[in-house]
Amino acid sequence: MITFVGAGPGDPELLTIKGKKIIDSADVIIYAGSLVNPAILDGAKKSARIYNSAEMNLDEVIEVMKDAESKGLRTARVHTGDPAIYGAIREQIDRLDSLGIESAVVPGVSSAFAAAAALKKEYTLPDISQTVIFTRMEGRTPMPPREKLQDLAKHHATMVIFLSVGFLEEMSHQLIAGGYAEKTPVAVVYKASWPEQKIVAGTLKDIAKKVEDSGIKKTALTVVGDFLGDGYSLSKLYDKGFTTEYRKGTEE
Ligand code: SAH
Repeated sequence: MITFVGAGPGDPELLTIKGKKIIDSADVIIYAGSLVNPAILDGAKKSARIYNSAEMNLDEVIEVMKDAESKGLRTARVHTGDPAIYGAIREQIDRLDSLGIESAVVPGVSSAFAAAAALKKEYTLPDISQTVIFTRMEGRTPMPPREKLQDLAKHHATMVIFLSVGFLEEMSHQLIAGGYAEKTPVAVVYKASWPEQKIVAGTLKDIAKKVEDSGIKKTALTVVGDFLGDGYSLSKLYDKGFTTEYRKGTEE
């Protein structure tokens, strides 16, 4: 059995209880060493064989899983944050399926949510944005043609931009070209939930320069949108005049 486990954003206490149980009982652990905090492996069995997938290609990863499976061992495949976001798990699951090897996925806390927590902000503010776009910039790997940042910007949704802190200047240009005002607030969260976490706040106009001055080059998320500002409406859910399934509203 191969279990894909979301390791969370960094803080070992943000690993799920289920994920920790899988890691602690695994015979073989393959973890994405470029981002996963090795401290989440602290409870692993002494006898566990541990591989860092940053140094392996897909064939090598599958080979380790296949070998473990043939010996009846349990494998934990540990990805950063939640494996469903830029985790490249689909290609592994499909290979395992074709080999007849059973697998399962345990979700994790994405850095998208660790960043919101660090900022103490809500991505979905009433009347400001009720939609969140997870995306990235076109870098060494291309974007599908209908998902250019400039096109996505048209929605003025909350945007959480992964893997792109090295291209902030270009990112700001594209978002402005897509219709965001230059004064739209932006925050860059470096290593959310790690002890070295840093937040740089600015606007589309000045964020690139501020981040450059801060020295942040990777492991950061960029969040963009008016949800970072001060204007919004109160929620209906907790409005005392609004009736819900659980609570009768009082007319004033
Ligand atoms: N599956 C992961 C994302 C993997 S892509 C998740 O759900 O978080 C790798 C990118 O995620 C990094 O380039 C960076 O943009 C972001 N990232 C991962 N961990 C981070 C953290 N602790 N703080 C800020 N950004 C992080």
